[in-house]
Order: sequence, then C-alpha cells, then structure tokens
Amino acid sequence: MQGDFSDIVCKYRYNIIINREVDIVFDTHVHTKFSTDSDMKIEDALKTAKNDNLSLVITEHMDINYPEKGEFLFDVKDYFDAYSRFKSDDLLLGVEIGMKEDCVEQSRKVVYNSPFDYVIGSVHLVDDMDLYYGNFYKDKTKQDAYKKYLQVILKNIKEFDFIDSLGHIDYICRYAKYKNSELKYSDFSDILDEIFKNILYTGKCIELNTRRLNSKPAVSNLFSIYKRYSELGGKYITLGSDAHDHDSIGNNFDTALNIAEKCNLKIVHFLDRKMEY
Ligand SMILES: [Zn+2]
Ligand SMILES: [Zn+2]
Repeated sequence: MQGDFSDIVCKYRYNIIINREVDIVFDTHVHTKFSTDSDMKIEDALKTAKNDNLSLVITEHMDINYPEKGEFLFDVKDYFDAYSRFKSDDLLLGVEIGMKEDCVEQSRKVVYNSPFDYVIGSVHLVDDMDLYYGNFYKDKTKQDAYKKYLQVILKNIKEFDFIDSLGHIDYICRYAKYKNSELKYSDFSDILDEIFKNILYTGKCIELNTRRLNSKPAVSNLFSIYKRYSELGGKYITLGSDAHDHDSIGNNFDTALNIAEKCNLKIVHFLDRKMEY
C-alpha cells in the first residue's frame, strides 16, 4: 500500500479548502492553557482556525491519578467559566480523558457532571509510566511494549464506556525509541481487531490523529490500520491534530482527508455528546 501513498503528503495540500465548500471540518483535538503542557491562548487558536477554514473542539488534558500529583488536571468549572463565551458553531468544548484503570469512576463522574460536547479517551500511561519517557520501554522488546500498550487500550475502552472517541491509537510511536517505531497492523492484527470490534460494538468512534501524518511510513501504516477498521464495519472517524500551539492546528489534515476517503470513512465530530455528520 505504501506506493499508493508516496505522493499524498504533499500532493493534496489544498484539499481542506476545497472540501470546506461542502463540509465543515473540525479539528477535534486541541489543547490550550488549561492543559499542563500547553500555554496556547484560545484567541490564538481561534485566529488560526479561522485562517485555515477549520472549526475547533478544545480538549484539555484530564489525567486523573497522573503520577506527578496535580499535573494534567484542570478545574472544570474554571474552564467553562472562561471559555463558554467563545462557544459557537465553530468552537466546541471537550476534554481528553487519560484512561487508566485506577480512575474509571472518578473520570466517569467528571464527564457526567460537566457539559462537555466531546470526550476523547486516550492512553498516555501504562503501569503508571508515561509513554513519553523512556522507563516504560526499558528491558522490553518492541513486540512486548506495543502488545502491552494495546492490551491496556483494549481493557480501558471496555471500562471507560462513557468516552466518545478513542484518541491517537499510534501514540506510542511518537516516543518509542526502537529502530522502527511504527505500529504495523500485521504485527498486532488480533488485538487491533479486538479494539476495533469493541469500538464498533459499543457505538464509539476512533480518532485519526494527524500529528504524525507528515511521515510517509506513518501514513502507510495508519492507512492499513484504518482500512482494517473500515473492513470490520467502521464508518466514522474524528480528526485531531493534538495541537498544543496554534501553528499545529489542522496539521496534515489534507493527508488525513485522503486516508479517510480511501478507507471509505466519514469524518464526524461531536456536539453535546452526539455524533454530527
Ligand atoms: Zn493524548
Ligand atoms: Zn491531546
């Protein structure tokens, strides 16, 4: 499949603008200053989105029981107090919940008690180790590390039955330091199929995270993964840049739109926790 995608990264540079004439495209994964690792101002996010003809869903980090006490949490009331005035058809307010087995009920409470439009469920930590750092990979082969990571995703999407979309399934590829850090469908087909079947069975959605779509190997491997999701009956995906600064908003959406089209997947977003087509 790699051959099919060799030109896509740059070839479809202006597709967002073309598609925008008929569709609304939401970047559904954006962090601002309420996230521990971002100091983006919402005004700057809005300015960039307007220039790029994109709509936005703000999704701040809420990783309850993060090992460093108090990190990756935000005050939900302060968030809505500060951002409700910005809400519009083009700016929705969501959250990215860090899925970890010791915070299911606390996370559920946060989600049920807050008027979020959209809830991403993401795995950032495995065995209490942030995948961003090296500890998790120490003394593990790539096969062991990736299998463990995918097992944690599978377990957590069953427990966190209140999320809307599974975030960045290829998160581990950003930080793992193996010779080839790509998540290859054929190496983990059984567990990836289980994850997809669970998503489909429970009526959830999956995100295509666009962060790594400037890399040809990433495009090729993610294409295989999303193609399989489609083959198993998947119809819908959300698109998210995971921007932490305004320059990253909508990054690689042109490539993502083409992956979606080739996999026959419809791009959706969530408003008031309901899927919008
Ligand atoms: Zn994340
Ligand atoms: Zn994120």
